[in-house]
Amino acid sequence: MTSDRRQFLGQASAALAGLAVTPRLRLAAAPSFDLVIRGGTVVDGTGAEVFVADLGVVGDTVAAVGEIGAGQGRRVVDASGLHVAPGFIDIHTHSDPDVLAYPTTDSRVRQGVTTELAGNCGGSAAPLVGLGVAERREEWKADGLDADWTDVASYLSRVEKAGISVNHALLVGHGTLRSNAIGDVDRPLSAEEMRGVARALEEALDQGVFGLSTGLEYVPGRYTPPSEIVALARLVARRGGLYASHMRNEEARLLEAVAEAIEVGRSSGARVEIAHLKAAGEANWPKQQAALDLLESARRDGVAVLADAYPYTAYSTGLTNLMEGWAREGGTAAILGRLRDPAARARIRREVEAQVKDEPGGWDRVVVSRVKTERNRAAAVGRSLVEIGGAWGVDPVDACLRLLEEEDTAVSFVGHAMSPQNVERVLRHPLVMIGSDGSSMAPVGKAAESRPHPRSYGTFARVLGFYARERGTFDLPTAVRKMTSLPADQVGLSDRGRIARGKKADLVVFDAAKVRDTATFDDPHRFPEGISLVVVNGVAVVERGAHTGARPGRVLRRG
Ligand SMILES: [Zn+2]
Repeated sequence: MTSDRRQFLGQASAALAGLAVTPRLRLAAAPSFDLVIRGGTVVDGTGAEVFVADLGVVGDTVAAVGEIGAGQGRRVVDASGLHVAPGFIDIHTHSDPDVLAYPTTDSRVRQGVTTELAGNCGGSAAPLVGLGVAERREEWKADGLDADWTDVASYLSRVEKAGISVNHALLVGHGTLRSNAIGDVDRPLSAEEMRGVARALEEALDQGVFGLSTGLEYVPGRYTPPSEIVALARLVARRGGLYASHMRNEEARLLEAVAEAIEVGRSSGARVEIAHLKAAGEANWPKQQAALDLLESARRDGVAVLADAYPYTAYSTGLTNLMEGWAREGGTAAILGRLRDPAARARIRREVEAQVKDEPGGWDRVVVSRVKTERNRAAAVGRSLVEIGGAWGVDPVDACLRLLEEEDTAVSFVGHAMSPQNVERVLRHPLVMIGSDGSSMAPVGKAAESRPHPRSYGTFARVLGFYARERGTFDLPTAVRKMTSLPADQVGLSDRGRIARGKKADLVVFDAAKVRDTATFDDPHRFPEGISLVVVNGVAVVERGAHTGARPGRVLRRG
């Protein structure tokens, strides 16, 4: 008998003796739960001690937590020996609009994710209006997606109509709003343009986004002065929304970037989430602890800042991000024009070479994960720039520029740049939540042709298996809290992220002794093991470790 079971039986017999009748152990005679999950060890999401209990679900809601008599469930799942947690909330994803291409969201739900917050790092699928719309539609069309929406409302209703397997919530991207207004131009907004962007933000907030994301390392985020960000964050704060920032720098100027994010929170009053906190590049590894210390001192000063992180020592992003800001201005055609101009190309070549030397620290650490065309797929995807250059008989930097040209700059890579000690240090920190930085996908179609970062498939199982169980980085209740109530509170999802009566029935049942991620950098389209049942809004989406095909996910709107 486990100590949890003993503890529960102790409570139950005390209740019988009339000494400590807890209401949740006393159930009305009427049966009729749609689903009973019997005898699981409950990790309720708050970080509290686990306890053994039955869960009764009616419709989309947890109606009872306690002891449920026989014959009371229309369906009964035996979870004895297994753990039951709230469905995981992935606070950092890029599933907009991928969720439309992969509505069964296999990569997410098979690891126990039941809600994802998309629209991160400054880019959101909506609004799709203003400048650059045709180019973005074209990009998505190449992925087989007909992007027919305009504002946030029409995007969200398109997702609703499609029917998806997990809950979908959205941030609006600052980069998206700014590009829509003036394009990817390196200058401050005029007062009138600023009013236009502010109006667009307010409209998005009215239509249900949970806040604003920035991508200040990207274009056009990097062209944006901090004053513009603070002004927009004030509007977000007024509505109780979230300000999530992919910071200006995660390398040599990491600490300045953390300070900027905190300052946005301090001057605007918005809750702040620092995206995928890391120190990239070996020379910058010693800065990691200082970055965490900055978060702590900001919290002491009353700034509501948290960070998210994924459990891997590599990041993933677009290859154009190796270029300096000037070289990325004005969109794809302008970048390609510079690559054709000998003087500009020579400067770009020099700068990209220097960047890679500094971070991630060599071309062998830059591994191509996705290209746009068939032409380079076999030669490039899954290979480092050293390997690609070797095969082409050119320097890695020239292979990089050639790929960018031949693929209309649409190349993604995985950069191996973080230390295992720092990844663990960040994950363990009490101000850090788990966020995958991944997307909804499945091992079919366009996704299957890419070799994405394994985080899309493995993040949450890796936290439970490798970090909680094998490394002992934290105990299980702490791990689960980082993926449930902590993000729920940060986003403002009051009815999810905890197991309690009246909360939504988003649930995951797993074997704590066996759960593990199997997705790797070489073979990323692999589902985790040890996750047997995933329930979204009361409906089983994963059963006996396989997708049921059900699509009970909802679009979540703020307010
Ligand atoms: Zn990011």
